Amino acid sequence: MRGGRVAVVGGSIAGCAFASAAARAGAAEVVVLERTGGQLADRGVGLAIHDDRAAELVATGALAPGIAAHRLTRRKWLVQDGDSRTGRVMWDQPFPFHSYHWGLLWRGLRAATPPAVEYRQGAAVEGVRGYADGAEVRLADGSVERFDLVVGADGYRSVVREAVSPGARPSYAGYVCWRGSYPAERLAALGGPAGGGTDWRDTDAITIGIPGGSCVVYHIPGPDGPMVNWVFYGAPPQTGPRLDDPTSLPPGGVSGELADRLAELAQRWLPPYWAGVIGLTPPERTSVQPIYDLETELTVGERLLLAGDAASVVRPHNTSGAAKALQDAAAFETAWRQADSWAGLLDAYQAARGSTGRELVALARRLGRAQAECTPDWAAMTEPTMTAWWQWQLDGVAGIGGQAMPTVPGAAPNPPR
Ligand SMILES: Cc1cc2nc3c(=O)[nH]c(=O)nc-3n(C[C@H](O)[C@H](O)[C@H](O)COP(=O)(O)OP(=O)(O)OC[C@H]3O[C@@H](n4cnc5c(N)ncnc54)[C@H](O)[C@@H]3O)c2cc1C
Repeated sequence: MRGGRVAVVGGSIAGCAFASAAARAGAAEVVVLERTGGQLADRGVGLAIHDDRAAELVATGALAPGIAAHRLTRRKWLVQDGDSRTGRVMWDQPFPFHSYHWGLLWRGLRAATPPAVEYRQGAAVEGVRGYADGAEVRLADGSVERFDLVVGADGYRSVVREAVSPGARPSYAGYVCWRGSYPAERLAALGGPAGGGTDWRDTDAITIGIPGGSCVVYHIPGPDGPMVNWVFYGAPPQTGPRLDDPTSLPPGGVSGELADRLAELAQRWLPPYWAGVIGLTPPERTSVQPIYDLETELTVGERLLLAGDAASVVRPHNTSGAAKALQDAAAFETAWRQADSWAGLLDAYQAARGSTGRELVALARRLGRAQAECTPDWAAMTEPTMTAWWQWQLDGVAGIGGQAMPTVPGAAPNPPR
């Protein structure tokens, strides 16, 4: 099928990848409607993609080659241990991931969108409606535009999802993650070698177990050199901002009880060196993200289609969100190339991606329970018990980081860029 006018609501990771996929597959016109007027690239936090998923995504064309990435190979699981400055290693786990800087990943995907794609910033969508023969988008300025297909790549508070699956809302998991990042050169302030223990230079990634939570720290590339990136899961303070509505506090917006709670958890439960790593984060680079789950059965409606976090919200423990969003785009391109009608395209996409979100959400819930809600007695954990605990969380799934891209019988691979 060739031709047609496609709107992509949201111009982040999923949005850029879908815009490229639609243009490559043969859409006559692709318009990205992104409500942010300023720099999306300023969201300077890290994320990671499993090595195998990254290789598949580059092969399908969904992940542009050449985007700066740091190769992670192992993750050490640590726990506070008496006077030890860096803690005790419970487990040295293989961790085959590439880590990215959000802004650099976004820039790479944006630069790879074909020039014919119209990327409109400051275009907030207030509602969409699908019909048998097209879909309408209502913008905040009051204008209404008609398209042949509308893709909802508008994230966890998706307006398009409201039209596809009315009433489906993310549910709060009962805990939050604080996030931070900064240039690794700041670590010089922590002083010299940590006395033979596991410090920043000694590992690609660590997870420190605390009662009712965990803290992940890993290397990411940055625009001006290597960066420290961390995600700290724990219960929020009893008082402070309400977190049971899907929202997040952007960098610089974390103060009062939420800032105090992070400092208290880090000081009380992290080995001193690692508490120092968290403590070096400037307030303007610290954010809070309440943790949510959302699964939808339907990823398509009449001339409407959901992508990335708009289709499913997976707790970050699974390290799969960006990979899943890019896989959605690759599946969309394949479905388009095989379809001879809009209905055929939507059916094929639903068949390919309908169950993916549900399976990822289920695994991430198990990981979240084990790593934040009902944590083990970390002090008693050793390599054999950690390995058994990990397998119990996976419950038969091959690993974290998302699922392998299924090969569609008879489908020609998407052509390289
Ligand atoms: C703490 C944390 C850690 C994570 N770590 C990882 C990781 O290690 N690995 C991984 O793969 N994933 C990770 N993720 C998830 C990953 O970032 C997302 O799943 C992925 O980027 C896909 O996002 P998206 O493009 O679907 O949505 P988003 O990035 O949320 O983008 C939605 C876009 O739509 C725009 N928008 C929203 N509403 C409207 C509207 N009404 N009109 C117009 N525009 C609109 C927004 O401005 C935004 O640009 C993590 C997430 C969190 C919270």
